[in-house]
Amino acid sequence: MGKVITIGEILVEIMAKEIGQTFLHAGDYRGPFPSGAPAIFIDQVAKSGSPAKIISAVGKDGFGEVNLNRLESNGVDVSNIKVLEDETTGVAFVTYKEDGDRDFIYHISNAACGRINKNYISKEDFEDCSYFHIMGSAIYNEGIRETINKGRRLAKKYGCKISFDPNIRKEIVNDKEKKELLLNILYEANIVLAGEDELYYLTENKDEKSNVENLFNKNAEIVIIKRGSKGVTLYTHNKTVDISPYKVEEVDPTGAGDCFGGTFISCINQEIEVEKATRLATIAGAKAVTKKGPMEGNTTLEELEEVYKELY
Ligand code: ATP
Repeated sequence: MGKVITIGEILVEIMAKEIGQTFLHAGDYRGPFPSGAPAIFIDQVAKSGSPAKIISAVGKDGFGEVNLNRLESNGVDVSNIKVLEDETTGVAFVTYKEDGDRDFIYHISNAACGRINKNYISKEDFEDCSYFHIMGSAIYNEGIRETINKGRRLAKKYGCKISFDPNIRKEIVNDKEKKELLLNILYEANIVLAGEDELYYLTENKDEKSNVENLFNKNAEIVIIKRGSKGVTLYTHNKTVDISPYKVEEVDPTGAGDCFGGTFISCINQEIEVEKATRLATIAGAKAVTKKGPMEGNTTLEELEEVYKELY
């Protein structure tokens, strides 16, 4: 079985306790939770049974250790996570609004993961790689953008598929150049796992169906639109399937999409049929929101299969 690779931020998340709490006033926060969209994704890839590796960096500190321990214990290959003596591990603070929206303050470009550069990856990483997963949140500085671009070239050279989650964070995609880079990756990707408004945000075309058709005319083989508590739509060349969510009580929405993506890519990497993989990923996304903390609700394939058997 080939390996799944991703590149990007590893951080700890410090989460507001109350909905409606803002960064403008003192309030209670919980954390540190191991986090970073690529880290949540890769943790779930490994936890659900595929070989998985992340290219990143942490500081030589407790926040770095929290992440390394978690990823390693779930089977992620952490050999390409550099531990930098002169940097500190990334941190994200998050607050939740009444309407479900969130605000983030990121310390990533100025932290250990801000030092990622193209020397962090080599062709050996891609020789046995089946999927290279790119997260839109991971384009926060020039060094990492160059690394992702090098990864895109290597992925193509070694026949590794590119999967892409735009994962737009307004705090990170804050200029035209970054938006254009994400649009290029979108058109290059073989698998697109996007939030409901993200295709529209990147293409400026409101019509989901014509956006999806356009992606199939480029390089896409599978497009999945994630709709939070409303479930997902799976598009392939020959079918469109709306999949209802697995009903749960939401405690914390952060990380659902990354966990969904990790499960889906891990499943198709294990040659699980695409529609079943989508249903398993939908269950994983739902389970993710039942726990406080971005990676705390990650699950094994056995747990997901149990629910799948009950439902289908
Ligand atoms: P994020 O960027 O915050 O991780 P996302 O937009 O990428 O979010 P979501 O659509 O929020 O991803 O979540 C991915 C999938 O997880 C959903 O499509 C759905 O199947 C499942 N899911 C998320 N929230 C819920 C919920 N409250 N109840 C049931 N399932 C959910």
